[in-house]
Amino acid sequence: MGDFVKMHTEHIYDLCIVGAGMFGSAAARHASANAGLKVCLIGPLEPTAEESKCREIFSSHYDEGRIVQAVDEKYPLYILSKQSISRYNELQKLSGIHFYTPLGSLVVAEKDSYDMLEVIHSCHYNNIPFVDLSDDETFKRRFPYLQLDECVSRIFDDNGAGLINARKIIEAQKKVAIMQGCHIIEDVVEEVKDLEQGIHMVIGGKGIIRAKRILICTGAFINYKKFHPLKELNMIVNKETVAMPRISEASAKIISSMPPIVYLKNNEDDDLTMAGYYILPPVKYPNGGYYLKIGRLGLFVDCQNPTLAEITEWFNCTGDPKQIQELSRDLKKMLPRLCK
Ligand SMILES: Cc1cc2nc3c(=O)[nH]c(=O)nc-3n(C[C@H](O)[C@H](O)[C@H](O)COP(=O)(O)OP(=O)(O)OC[C@H]3O[C@@H](n4cnc5c(N)ncnc54)[C@H](O)[C@@H]3O)c2cc1C
Repeated sequence: MGDFVKMHTEHIYDLCIVGAGMFGSAAARHASANAGLKVCLIGPLEPTAEESKCREIFSSHYDEGRIVQAVDEKYPLYILSKQSISRYNELQKLSGIHFYTPLGSLVVAEKDSYDMLEVIHSCHYNNIPFVDLSDDETFKRRFPYLQLDECVSRIFDDNGAGLINARKIIEAQKKVAIMQGCHIIEDVVEEVKDLEQGIHMVIGGKGIIRAKRILICTGAFINYKKFHPLKELNMIVNKETVAMPRISEASAKIISSMPPIVYLKNNEDDDLTMAGYYILPPVKYPNGGYYLKIGRLGLFVDCQNPTLAEITEWFNCTGDPKQIQELSRDLKKMLPRLCK
């Protein structure tokens, strides 16, 4: 506490970013690129397995694989993705940290379905390049190990789509932010208070800092601390369970050209919302093992406005075993030769 107070109370930061996750770390890098601004980023590091037992704040970025895709039926998302992707190499170079694997990405949906027509319409209308792999022979030649349902259209997005490593991109953003003079403080913020003359007081477990502007990037944990003047948000919680079957290194090599797949399927309960899966190709994890990953697409309202205890319990659990079984079964059908 002594060091924290010494280091940070003498400053009034121009900007204090709360939450060192995917958004917060990127904001810290971009804001600190302006040499005229004093910027700090506050957030806890990923807990070890032991520390998880007594933590209440977690994140959605404790993972190695995230899909990046350019093709999107929403034009603003296409532009944002394209611009982010175009800067990955610069960030890798500046930080010396490799986090990006441009494998392309595959968007799959039933032929002539509303989802597929929307994707294709958006590509044509917005001049987004894509490769049509709907012809079965062409597809089999390109991805012989992938067995998808018949009667589907397949759009290959080769606009820099692929995978990023969530942990590593955050590490890279923070490293470059530090090089630009950003202070990084490993702490959980308990309260943000307004002081007089436009200065805010940020109260963490380790001490207090002052800042002219605050950017809150706390992900799913936004409602659980006192962030004045933010009002409590109405939160709809979609509990994400993913299945991650481990495969051998030899199998991972065989399918090393596999792109991430976004498989749009009709939602049987509701025509208007998207459903289906997202599937990640093999990714090497810190334990040395190679894992595939499959999760559900779509918004399934599991609960509204959970308490901190409920959300902490969810982040600490191993997911829904029934869904893991179903997702693993569906993945096996798509990679029949690998997942026996
Ligand atoms: C299983 C899963 C798979 C996903 N797959 C993809 C994918 O393939 N592609 C994709 O684009 N997106 C994917 N996402 C979504 C993506 O991970 C999130 O959109 C992204 O992590 C959100 O970033 P964020 O910064 O808002 O929140 P987070 O990444 O959760 O970061 C929030 C940060 O705030 C910190 N924090 C919280 N409260 C406080 C506090 N009081 N004080 C200080 N710090 C605090 C946390 O410690 C954390 O570091 C996936 C998400 C999940 C859960």
